[in-house]
Amino acid sequence: MLIDVNQPDSAEKFWEGMREVAASATRHQDYELFEALIKIGRAALAQGVELVPQCGFFLSCPVCSALSGQRCINAPGHPLGDHKLHPERVELAEKAIRGEVPLPGPLR
Ligand SMILES: [Zn+2]
Repeated sequence: MLIDVNQPDSAEKFWEGMREVAASATRHQDYELFEALIKIGRAALAQGVELVPQCGFFLSCPVCSALSGQRCINAPGHPLGDHKLHPERVELAEKAIRGEVPLPGPLR
């Protein structure tokens, strides 16, 4: 398959793949794999890959406790509406990937 890094949805595709591996790391409780993913994510940022909201799938949700790789569920006081993820989760993931906050862990 030809990969075009300038494709409009290439960032989404990148983070989608990362999310799938993160889900697997969670299933296998493999924190080293998860840390490796964060390293890749940070390197990608440095190369100019944009953060997209679905990078929130990386971490478990601080609002509804959805696990890494899982969609958020409605929680009291935090309706999801049309979103797959709580905004708090997206914000936390962006900060963690940028290194502004420590990675939450171990995987749950
Ligand atoms: Zn959530």
